[in-house]
Amino acid sequence: MQWENTEEFASKLDAQDELSSFRGEFYIPKVNGKESIYFTGNSLGLQPKSARAALEQEMKDWEDLGVEGHFHGKNPWFYYHKFLTEGAAYIAGAKPIEVVVMNNLTVNLHFMMVSFYRPAGKRYKILMEGGAFPSDMYAMESQVKFHGYEYDDAVIEMTPRAGEHHLRTEDIVQTIHEHGDEIALVMFSGVQYYTGQAFDIPAITKAAHDAGALCGFDLAHAAGNLQLKLHDWDVDFGVWCSYKYLNSGPGGVSGVFVHERHANNPELPRFAGWWGHKEDDRFQMKRGYIPEPGAAGWQLSNAPVLSMSVHKASLKLFQQAGMERLVEKGRKLNAYLEFVVREAGRSNDRLQFDIITPEERGCQLSVLTGANGKELFDHLTGEGVIVDWREPNVIRMAPVPMYNSFMDVYQFGELLRNF
Ligand SMILES: *Cc1c(COP(=O)(O)O)cnc(C)c1O
Repeated sequence: MQWENTEEFASKLDAQDELSSFRGEFYIPKVNGKESIYFTGNSLGLQPKSARAALEQEMKDWEDLGVEGHFHGKNPWFYYHKFLTEGAAYIAGAKPIEVVVMNNLTVNLHFMMVSFYRPAGKRYKILMEGGAFPSDMYAMESQVKFHGYEYDDAVIEMTPRAGEHHLRTEDIVQTIHEHGDEIALVMFSGVQYYTGQAFDIPAITKAAHDAGALCGFDLAHAAGNLQLKLHDWDVDFGVWCSYKYLNSGPGGVSGVFVHERHANNPELPRFAGWWGHKEDDRFQMKRGYIPEPGAAGWQLSNAPVLSMSVHKASLKLFQQAGMERLVEKGRKLNAYLEFVVREAGRSNDRLQFDIITPEERGCQLSVLTGANGKELFDHLTGEGVIVDWREPNVIRMAPVPMYNSFMDVYQFGELLRNF
């Protein structure tokens, strides 16, 4: 596509955009009375207008029915997680039996580690990306310590080659082969939160399996951003949150994928609670845990219905818009952003930055800024742009296909040029 840095060009792209009406389904935050340019959907997605009614439905049933809402509400709470299964399976590219929505992300990561990080003998190491999201680093650190290992010995962190900002798939595959018989688990993010790199999930999974290891992914920045096919890619487990690209509100519930071959294995060790127990005798209050078949058998607690109601409303929008169309528009938006950013860099000497996000990406562009990076960030913020700053000197921008427009990107470029 031949990009142009003009207002007419941006409005032409918006006019051709089949998804443009979805912007109207969201509240766009205002800054100084004007709609902001919101490029932080990778951190906290915006509120769908349909969320409030979904939440109020459950508040109303609670008001009118009290405990009876568990079985007699409009959406009976006892089954509430099931109302999210179809949407979660759609997002993950999974069979319904392979997904469940429960808890929060880091909590679920630990629960998956209980089942899928089972170090034994020589095979006790975890291979992961260096500079992973802090919660994931802490989770891995505490897991290896819990099993009696030292972090520096048991965790292999991969870093990019000198002078490069992201990992090459060939290097990841080679490292897996080199350490083959020591690795118990390969654990990567789907999209790296800092650089925006989208990892090659099927290639990493295959290499892990060839080496005899299991392979899991933290999909916090991938769910609702990339077209995932976790089942076909043969991934062992995946976890994600719902409040980033999935627009389901601060601290929203998390999704879990467990591949069918594990999901239907009741012998697989896990930490159990009553909500994962076989549904038809969950209220028998008997001894002896019998898991529900599928990922649902990893549930512990009863469903957080209020936050799930918002997630339910949001998932519906993804099914309506369609991941294929979202991904296509997202690619275009980000390619346009890259063009606009590079043009601005050429026209204004004060803009010293490097784009560190590779072509393999979802909806995010990270730029490494120069000495005046913080000043640039403050300039953008003052002009009603919501982007984020990540220490030591990266600005992350994420125009998302669900509610951002090509005009947002064009106007952003104008603000850059005026710095
Ligand atoms: C956002 C994010 C988290 C946050 O974890 P919570 O448990 O939801 O607070 C964890 N890991 C990654 C990779 C993330 O991007």
